[in-house]
Amino acid sequence: MCGVFGVRAPGRDVARLSYFGLYALQHRGQESAGIAVSEAGRLTALRDLGLVPQVFDERSLSGLHGELAIGHTRYSTTGANAWENAQPLLHHGRVRTVALGHNGNLVNAQALRDEVGKPLASSSDSEVIAALIADDERPLEAAVAGCMARLEGAATVVGLADGTLFAFRDPHGFRPLAIGRLGDDYVVASETCALDLVGAAFEREVRPGELVLIDEGGLHSTQAVPPAERGALCIFEFFYLARPDTRLSGVEVHGARVRMGERLAAESEVEADLVLPIPDSGTPAAIGFARATGIPFSEGLIKNRYVGRTFIQPEQGMREQGIRMKFNPLAEVAGKRLVVVDDSIVRGSTTRQIVAMLFDAGAAEVHVRISSPPVVSPCFYGIDLASEDEMIAAHATVEEVRDAIGATSLAYLSLDGLTEATRRPASHLCRACLTRRYPTAVPGDTAKHRFEAIRG
Ligand code: SF4
Repeated sequence: MCGVFGVRAPGRDVARLSYFGLYALQHRGQESAGIAVSEAGRLTALRDLGLVPQVFDERSLSGLHGELAIGHTRYSTTGANAWENAQPLLHHGRVRTVALGHNGNLVNAQALRDEVGKPLASSSDSEVIAALIADDERPLEAAVAGCMARLEGAATVVGLADGTLFAFRDPHGFRPLAIGRLGDDYVVASETCALDLVGAAFEREVRPGELVLIDEGGLHSTQAVPPAERGALCIFEFFYLARPDTRLSGVEVHGARVRMGERLAAESEVEADLVLPIPDSGTPAAIGFARATGIPFSEGLIKNRYVGRTFIQPEQGMREQGIRMKFNPLAEVAGKRLVVVDDSIVRGSTTRQIVAMLFDAGAAEVHVRISSPPVVSPCFYGIDLASEDEMIAAHATVEEVRDAIGATSLAYLSLDGLTEATRRPASHLCRACLTRRYPTAVPGDTAKHRFEAIRG
């Protein structure tokens, strides 16, 4: 889960545009942020651990000049949360220097690392992509296309090299990437909400397997690798990851989530007094649930939006109160039969604590409704869900999960209900963490042989 951004806009402050683009993509990664610029072909990058406004200030931004820029917000999936893994990374190869930002996870990174045959500065799988392009003697377009053909897994990439901005998606199209117009200039971004913020007009999405090159000649596109027979846009983008104001394949994510809630209400009716979301990701589905049932919607759980990653441990007596760092119930839940709506349950520990907190606050009943099917299998394409052993639903019935989280009742949205709410056919979606049917080869043993692919 990362956010990528790229812009070519000679005469404009491309670093500042990237900064605002990254601000809109902050939800896709909060561990590190960075911007690389290209000025007359010379590359400069600034990246660090932290949120976008912690990494950049007026001074650092005003030192980044160029006609082209790329930006990245990172949430680590492969490789630790360390400075050297922050992106955009700069790789000095035999032929060229490449700045690169990557969203996704490769499933054949180890084999590619061996092939590159030289020590890399980072432990993330993204540097092998940069190294393959930087060491290729062919012109940039052929070098990037050649690299794309060797990648397996999820790769939405933005890069700078040879005075050109390039961007591509893997043939399955796991992660989104949109193109926007800024007058005569071009912007690419993981989500359309970033185009909106910088004032770019949405033009289209980058197609699976398509390579886009942007230089002084404008935008040039080529189908570098054939698209996979079945597309595999991550369905998690629809119910959890993407910002609600983003449009995926023309579908506004908020609307899709409201439809999920409406469908959930139809599939698992319940008598109740109030519908409350677990904010923020459960909110649109809770709105849909309330609309469909006529049960009043309540903001019954108040979220502290300023809780981030903290290294300060609470005092011993506060430990059990941990969840209250994030949520606190309103008095109106007392004596009420509640429907609590969330987008997913992975480990179940947060849901269990929230259910207990609502009963402590006097709730008469707590009916948990989830706007996705049970998450039962890990993701190899860039979402750090958990291992299968840690997933509460992987080897348990719905009733067992209900018992474990302490709810009065529990129901999940059906797979068909979820898919229909996205308005995309199942053949265009990856749903592997819900179905265990993976669209590519996957590592056989996630712990020990991270990247040894087994076709299946
Ligand atoms: S396995 Fe799940 S989280 Fe990963 S890409 Fe597929 S749908 Fe998305």
